[in-house]
Amino acid sequence: MKKRSVKQIIAGKASSDGAGVRLTRTLGASPSSRHDPFLLLDEFGSNDASDYIAGFPNHPHRGFETVTYMLNGEMLHEDHMGNKGRMAPGAVQWMTAGRGIIHSEMPQQEEGRMRGFQLWINLPAKDKMCEPAYQEFAAEQIPRVNLDGQGWIKVIAGKLSLAGQTVQGPVRGIATDPIYMDIALDPGQSVELPLPGAHNALIYVYEGEVLLDSREVSSRQTAILSDGEQLSLQAPGDGPTRLLLIAARPIGEPVVQYGPFVMNTSDEIRQAIQDFQSGRLTD
Ligand code: MN
Repeated sequence: MKKRSVKQIIAGKASSDGAGVRLTRTLGASPSSRHDPFLLLDEFGSNDASDYIAGFPNHPHRGFETVTYMLNGEMLHEDHMGNKGRMAPGAVQWMTAGRGIIHSEMPQQEEGRMRGFQLWINLPAKDKMCEPAYQEFAAEQIPRVNLDGQGWIKVIAGKLSLAGQTVQGPVRGIATDPIYMDIALDPGQSVELPLPGAHNALIYVYEGEVLLDSREVSSRQTAILSDGEQLSLQAPGDGPTRLLLIAARPIGEPVVQYGPFVMNTSDEIRQAIQDFQSGRLTD
């Protein structure tokens, strides 16, 4: 079986979005830093409320999915249909925007640590105008595989069979058959994981560093992986290593993005802007 290696490293760029939330952007900082079907990956958060308090007031999305995974702090989301939900630490929200959602994502705290991730995953042309949908899961609904020692793997989407355990993430029925895992390794610990060979894959390290097929990937870096069916990770550091492993079936269609609208053609983008301006985005 072919092992995956590091094809490209994208260093996180300090950035700001919403009403001034400070974040680290890796994927999506430029159009060339996408990895089909992944459009954008942000780590947001800080111990300082002024970095997050303004939140993400009402804004639209069309044509793709947003995945929010909280590590610390609480966020409230509300949309134009009256859907509302509180995301606590460890919770995941998988939002399929489809033809259109207008929503806000606002911190529910005025002090303390807020930290999490938002990933944007593209939809194939046939699903871009689908009805919007949500899948939301609290920390306790997300299964994990315990590794030898202190390490573990939380499986948010996809299936993992490892060390005599098989777990299936709670997120189901997504067009690109995604895998989304949160991995914690002890210093010196290593793990070998199976991955579907036809999936595009990446890792994002958010604490410590990891050796992937002997190449070091540091905190706040995304590593785009080569093809293969096997992934070996080793934690070389003195402290804990934490990372996200994200993979999905590539779509292979043209991508035309204008901010929060991601379609296949410029005409479809013009339509999205016109629909939004005339209040018909979500009709
Ligand atoms: Mn949003």
